[in-house]
Amino acid sequence: MPSSFRFDPNASPVASTDRAERMIDPGFGRVFTDHMAVIRFSDADGWHDPHVTARAPLQIDPASSVLHYAQEIFEGLKAYRLEDGGTALFRPDANARRFQDSARRLAMPELPENLFIESIERLVDADRDWIPGGEGALYLRPFMFASEVFLGVKPAAEYLYMVIASSVGAYWKGGMRPITVWVSREHTRAAAGGTGAAKCGGNYAASLIAQKAAIAEGCDQVVFLDAIDRRWVEELGGMNLFFVLDDGTLVTPPLTGTILPGITRDSLITLARADGLTVREEPYAIDQWRADAQSGRLVEAFACGTAAVVTPVGNVKDAEGDFAIGGGGTGQITQRLHQALNAIQRGTAPDPHNWLHRL
Ligand code: PMP
Repeated sequence: MPSSFRFDPNASPVASTDRAERMIDPGFGRVFTDHMAVIRFSDADGWHDPHVTARAPLQIDPASSVLHYAQEIFEGLKAYRLEDGGTALFRPDANARRFQDSARRLAMPELPENLFIESIERLVDADRDWIPGGEGALYLRPFMFASEVFLGVKPAAEYLYMVIASSVGAYWKGGMRPITVWVSREHTRAAAGGTGAAKCGGNYAASLIAQKAAIAEGCDQVVFLDAIDRRWVEELGGMNLFFVLDDGTLVTPPLTGTILPGITRDSLITLARADGLTVREEPYAIDQWRADAQSGRLVEAFACGTAAVVTPVGNVKDAEGDFAIGGGGTGQITQRLHQALNAIQRGTAPDPHNWLHRL
């Protein structure tokens, strides 16, 4: 499809004083911009009607198949205000490819990479004033769902792809804070052959009961174990995990189809290796994690993802024995990798891997 995004500007955008007020302390995912990007798909017409328009509630038929069978996928990435006054997306090509991978797994049409990127470029262009400075960013949420009005269980013949944007603040107000995680022994997130590597809403729906249990246990996040042996550490509900050993080696669970291939994970592997560190993508058992933390072989652990970038894991709560990591604080390698990635994202360090996509 030739690129021809139509732009219908919002006739009553949020007044600038009101916008400024909302952006003072936006938190995460509550402050939304004036516009949204939309592309439609049907088996008959393919991708069509790309446009940016006023952000508004959708009218959908109660028989839209997404409401019944959850044929839905999404992405998450950020636009940053750079030190030199410019604006950039971080690795949107990687998000575009993951969106295609998720679509394939959910039997949905694959949005061409150029349309994915252009939809985001057009939206950020329309809502440029909503990009916070300082430690904030504009969080972009592309998503696609089955909009066909039909109750048969089959891949839909019609889809709606959209991008919305949200002004977000520093994830950790007042600096990075180590989190406490809770190991779910009852629930798993993904099985071999399932949808664990796809970014589909259903994965998150299925993870909420464990997240709720983690909160009830006084923890910040849930750790999922593999579905077969209930032994191998997989990931958190919304972040990948890294373990730092006392010889400087990093270990992270391999991408075997049951965890989300995080773009932050991939970027940190590249940065760590460029920094001379050894990174091993290999299975790491929960009992090993506890034994290594207790013996001192494990000195740091951290979680990573687009929202918080890097978050130290200080404590693990588990029915088979709680443990602390490196005294429960923030380790040096965690700190160093976080700073290195953050500096590239904000344009305060060179970008040797061409990760910034300037707008
Ligand atoms: N795992 C899960 C389950 C996630 O939801 C996320 C957030 N997208 C991640 C890992 C981290 O992925 P990324 O670094 O691409 O944000």
